[in-house]
Amino acid sequence: SKAALFDAENKVKITFKDVAGLEEAKEEVQEIVEFLSNPSKFTVLGGKIPKGALLVGPPGTGKTLLAKAVAGEADVPFFSLSGSDFVEMFVGVGAARVRDLFKQAKAKAPCIIFIDEIDAIGRHRSRGATPGGNDERENTLNSLLVEMDGFATDSGVIILAATNRPDTLDSALLRPGRFDRQVSIDKPDINGRTEIFDVHLKPLTLGPDVDARKLAAQTPGFAGAEIANVCNEAALIAARRNKKAVDQQDFNDAIDRVIGGLEKKNKIIS
Ligand code: ATP
Repeated sequence: SKAALFDAENKVKITFKDVAGLEEAKEEVQEIVEFLSNPSKFTVLGGKIPKGALLVGPPGTGKTLLAKAVAGEADVPFFSLSGSDFVEMFVGVGAARVRDLFKQAKAKAPCIIFIDEIDAIGRHRSRGATPGGNDERENTLNSLLVEMDGFATDSGVIILAATNRPDTLDSALLRPGRFDRQVSIDKPDINGRTEIFDVHLKPLTLGPDVDARKLAAQTPGFAGAEIANVCNEAALIAARRNKKAVDQQDFNDAIDRVIGGLEKKNKIIS
């Protein structure tokens, strides 16, 4: 179905206030919000608006959230697809799907195209012949490059792509006129975690012993996605215990559970 090949959201409700911490990254992408909101202001002196920026950082740190917030702040549609879905799901048709995506996006410009896990399609192309090897992925990558080169910089389409492996990307993607800007999104420090807890504690009914800063101190190494997970788990644990509010004990148990989940995941990987 159409829904499976990429998502399109005409009205994005997420804005920068939903993205906790990441102050530098927000400042960098603020420029993109301005390009989208008022393109002619920037091209009047002959300058070219960048076509894309790469959001670089570990999983769960808010790259998708930030890309969505750019669309929300500029009040433009958000088209998204994931590189890994793409390669797995659309054998033989990846290149056509990319063309289709760009066609639809151009019709809705100004807008954002977001490509999650771009490394799945954007790895270095193999040199020399590996018959049958990665032709599919290479075709998809080539069509992405062709599309990026083919639209004018004042077309109002800006492509944001996320990766945690920028070193594996084909250098063709990083050339001027393509993803020539990089925004780094790091794991949060204790202040960042406190701010992320503040965002995700807000919708919960909390006991008096719950404190964002204390929770942040208990969760070194956690990314935003894990913090969101802890808050949700804690609320479910408290509900199961028939409590009227989520308290520190529920958070302790939720943190243990999320750490357990992470350890399991690491074991499977290594
Ligand atoms: P991946 O690379 O695994 O796709 P990502 O970097 O795109 O991850 P998101 O999908 O944006 O991460 O984050 C997942 C969820 O974690 C978000 O929907 C949000 O609930 C929470 N989250 C992550 N980072 C933040 C943040 N900085 N502020 C608030 N919430 C966050």
